[in-house]
Amino acid sequence: MKHLVIILFASFLLLGGCNSSEQSKSVQTKVVCTTNILGDLANVIVGDQAEVIALMGAGVDPHLYKATQGDLMELNSADVIIYNGLHLEGKMTEIFEKLSNRKNIIAATAGVNQSKLINNSDFKGAYDPHLWFDVELWIEVIDHIAKQLSTIEELDKEKINQNKEAYISQLISLNKQVKSKISAIDKSQRVLITAHDAFAYFGRAYDIEVRGLQGISTLSEYGLKDVSELVDFIVERKIKAVFVESSVSDRSLKAVVQGCRSKGHDVVIGGTLYSDALGEKGSNAGTYIEMVKHNVNTIVENLR
Ligand code: ZN
Repeated sequence: MKHLVIILFASFLLLGGCNSSEQSKSVQTKVVCTTNILGDLANVIVGDQAEVIALMGAGVDPHLYKATQGDLMELNSADVIIYNGLHLEGKMTEIFEKLSNRKNIIAATAGVNQSKLINNSDFKGAYDPHLWFDVELWIEVIDHIAKQLSTIEELDKEKINQNKEAYISQLISLNKQVKSKISAIDKSQRVLITAHDAFAYFGRAYDIEVRGLQGISTLSEYGLKDVSELVDFIVERKIKAVFVESSVSDRSLKAVVQGCRSKGHDVVIGGTLYSDALGEKGSNAGTYIEMVKHNVNTIVENLR
């Protein structure tokens, strides 16, 4: 009997312990982001004031991504939801609409003036969602997200502002580095060829011609005609390298490389660029800054 009492008392303590730790967990503000690019940004801005979760990990294509049951639970328990918008998360739009009347939802790209957006070649009246490739535009996105996060009662406005300012000054210097590196590529070779058309903002910001085989969304199909047109372009311009993307199949680009070789022009796959997702944490592209540096170095090494 004595033992039973002790066991009961011990389990009461254990259960009590569990409950209180669960409570303190649920007290912490929870920020749920769609892509890990946004997750990285949110982490930098809120610091240790909130738990930040990214639903899509390394190598995940946001255009095709469908929310899982687990994602819906994360979204339901979120205090703040951050998504890219401009149809990047094409298959999740309805979910955000449904949650919008009872959750703090931030559309990352909503704060950028429309005049700075590039038209989407796939859908009339829509815009290209890949804003993060222009570091200067991404700074505007960060500013917008920080402003929105400052309105959340549980978060410290002052800290958010400090984190934001420190991060933006890092990005201003990153932007300068990108400009100077890309401009070192000979103008005739300054052409970036990838599987899907994600790099239009990159091209505009850093003065490099951009060609993709697929459209802006990976949902759009490419045909034999697209392959042969791209092959002709590469052969004519004597382009040295094309690039695969971490979140898109490389099958289409392999067909382009083969096509060029059959016409006597040796083009190589110059490496993997991170387009719509960061790499694994701790890899050489686990943060936004690392991703931009990795992409730029890969491009420059192969085209110079
Ligand atoms: Zn994309």
